[in-house]
Amino acid sequence: MTATISKLIWLAFGIVWFVLRLRPRRHARETPVRYSGRGAREVLLLAAALTGLGIVPGIYLATHVPRFADYPVIPALSYAGIAVDLASAWLFYRTHRELGRNWSVSLDLRERHTLVTTGIYATVRHPMYAGFWLMGLAQALLLPNWIAGPAGLVGFGILYFGRVRREEEMMVAAFGDEYRAYMRRTGRVVPWLSWRH
Ligand code: SAH
Repeated sequence: MTATISKLIWLAFGIVWFVLRLRPRRHARETPVRYSGRGAREVLLLAAALTGLGIVPGIYLATHVPRFADYPVIPALSYAGIAVDLASAWLFYRTHRELGRNWSVSLDLRERHTLVTTGIYATVRHPMYAGFWLMGLAQALLLPNWIAGPAGLVGFGILYFGRVRREEEMMVAAFGDEYRAYMRRTGRVVPWLSWRH
């Protein structure tokens, strides 16, 4: 395992993620929205995630900046990164299949939005965000650089903590007691770690 191979593996999983999202993106464009919680705040949160998971590591791969933060590749970490990225890709695959046309990149409720509480959504309320946490962790394990590696966890962390409460409030406003009951029997991203108010 060399640094170059480890970086290319990060890139390969990025491409897998992009391809997995092609169809959901097309469906999202075709499916009308009846309520949107988008706004300046969501734009900033999405920009933070994109910066940490895409722009900072992308610049690192293309230009090797910031070189001063490099450390020697540790093969065991790279192999762990592959395993974590595989789990993340599986989560993206499953969650997109299960959410179907209810999916959005931001906070939207669609015409004929249905509440999904089965399959992987029976255990956690935010399995796609679990997938992003794992994607960020894999980046930290695969890129031997103290800045480009952890940037994904930082960037996605900003999106996650800035959004998840508002998303759940939006779902409660739309689905009421059905979502409240769903919250009581599920964890946010960790199964059985439910959030009791
Ligand atoms: N937070 C979820 C979904 C991310 S996509 C996850 O991590 O898996 C974001 C969109 O999904 C939001 O606009 C919201 O309308 C929708 N959504 C979130 N949870 C949902 C659910 N259980 N059923 C249907 N749609 C949901």
